[in-house]
Amino acid sequence: MIYKRVALIGLGLIASSMAHAMRAQGLAGEIVGYAKSPETRAVAKELFCDRVTATAAEAVTGADLVVLAVPVGAMGAIAEEIAPHLAPGATVTDVGSVKQSVVDAVAPHIPAGVHFIPGHPLAGTEYSGPRSGFATLFQNRWWLLTPAPGVDGAALDRLRSLLTGMGANVDEMDVEHHDLVLAVVSHTPHLIAYTMVGVADHMRRVSSQEVIKYSASGFRDFTRIAASDPTMWRDVFLTNKDAVLDILGRFAEELFVLQRAIRMGDGEHLHAYFTRTRAIRRGIIEAGQDTAAPDFGRAATPPKEA
Ligand code: NAP
Repeated sequence: MIYKRVALIGLGLIASSMAHAMRAQGLAGEIVGYAKSPETRAVAKELFCDRVTATAAEAVTGADLVVLAVPVGAMGAIAEEIAPHLAPGATVTDVGSVKQSVVDAVAPHIPAGVHFIPGHPLAGTEYSGPRSGFATLFQNRWWLLTPAPGVDGAALDRLRSLLTGMGANVDEMDVEHHDLVLAVVSHTPHLIAYTMVGVADHMRRVSSQEVIKYSASGFRDFTRIAASDPTMWRDVFLTNKDAVLDILGRFAEELFVLQRAIRMGDGEHLHAYFTRTRAIRRGIIEAGQDTAAPDFGRAATPPKEA
């Protein structure tokens, strides 16, 4: 056991997956949960929390680890509410997809003697809510920590042990660098997927029937990403604004170059470009971050509905 009492604030995909993983590995003595709605709290109590509470303040009382697992825009108000109730020596971490805005919103509320170690698991699915979690979500996935310089070494080591115990690989990164990297690998690709699905939706010439009927892997994969939780992703774009706008600007420039190559019939340019991008996919597979099976290992025919 690494922590005697873990308080999960927010009980959706990430928190429920943490609870299942902690239970499976015996990493926490007691798991206490709080979420906004009584319905979510009831499901959490049934599926993965030892106890749920009616307020966030009650949940964190006596906890040696507090995990903020709410949408990024909700972190500051929660931190303000729980601050007077945090136990001396406790660690507070979060799982928010953006780090600078969370640090700005949460750090000012953390009392002396409590260790704040911001974090972000690079793992997820397009599903949300307390029923969507599973114990292996973090297996062989990166979990980035962005501790402030001078954070307590023992508290950091203890949190790292919990995360590796859940199967994650842990890395540390500067807050600003984290937000730029994530704008490249996650946030901007999500925006592009949302846009492409939006384009298909607006093209009345292609009836929605056809879009669904003929959706081949390219469009189908965009729709999976574009099905992600609207609240979470609204907050990501509102809070990682500068880095996303920087990467989108670069994306638009590249798109114009490819558009010109297509217009000019410059096959050589297109072929060289696609050869470079294919090598990146190979690198991801070699790093163990995705399957090498064709079409992500999907069955050749879609599974029948259960
Ligand atoms: P989720 O499944 O949508 O769950 C969000 C949870 O937060 C729900 O239990 C919700 O409660 C609760 N909540 C929302 N506002 C709240 C408030 N003001 N006070 C208390 N509880 C509140 O979300 P998730 O996917 O687990 O994401 C949680 C965090 O993890 C986000 O910061 C996100 O950026 C980050 N993250 C997500 C992914 C991903 O792929 N999903 C990956 C990495 C990191 P109710 O059910 O009662 O509304």
